[in-house]
Amino acid sequence: MIKKIKGIIVSTTPFKETSKILNVLTEDGKIVSMMARGVKQVKNVLRSKTNNFTYGYFYTYYKEDKLSTLTNVDIINDFENIKNDLELISYLNYLVELSEKVAKQTTSNNIFDLLITALEKINDGFDPIIIKNILEIKFLDYLGLKLNLDNCNNCGSNKDIVTISSSLGGFICKNCNVENHTTNLKTIKMIRNYYYVNLSSISKLNISDDVKLEIDKFLDEMYEDYSGLYIKSKKFLKNIVNLN
Ligand SMILES: [Zn+2]
Repeated sequence: MIKKIKGIIVSTTPFKETSKILNVLTEDGKIVSMMARGVKQVKNVLRSKTNNFTYGYFYTYYKEDKLSTLTNVDIINDFENIKNDLELISYLNYLVELSEKVAKQTTSNNIFDLLITALEKINDGFDPIIIKNILEIKFLDYLGLKLNLDNCNNCGSNKDIVTISSSLGGFICKNCNVENHTTNLKTIKMIRNYYYVNLSSISKLNISDDVKLEIDKFLDEMYEDYSGLYIKSKKFLKNIVNLN
């Protein structure tokens, strides 16, 4: 039976001389592996459509829990603007690798939608650091690291929130802030917005660099210290972010 599957290639594994296995994150949140026969041959029509990050419809002879065989690909979005920009490519690498790892930790199908929307936004010219951070903060829920961004994570008060702490799991109020950390109040407000915003409805972003970088640093700590995920492409991306 031929099945049409909407998805994005998150990684590929070479197979014999001319073939490869595609690992596709599908719209229902699964990672489906497909055998793409002969696609490494120069004249193969699917050659350019079976690389990492191809987002489209994959037509396969589908076998439940077995390797499906790819027969055709229709591209939905080529993310051309991202692929023409070396800096944005490193965001693409990172976000796709992160999404693949998060998808393996959850049965939710939200990971696919969040990833695709994030890539569309970056492709449309939105600030990649902000989009990356929105995705990262939303993904925490699926990693069992849900933050408390409504009130103090220690006493429950919703007054005088002065800082956010990765080790304390969210917002901390003035009374509970024994270590006397302070965070820019705009950062506190904005990080909450990142968590609750509907990514697809974003039409304008106007966030100062210091707030942006403070949020990025916080999320970096969350992932480094608590997620248990190792994202190979992150180091490279960090070097790029630090150059700016
Ligand atoms: Zn408190």
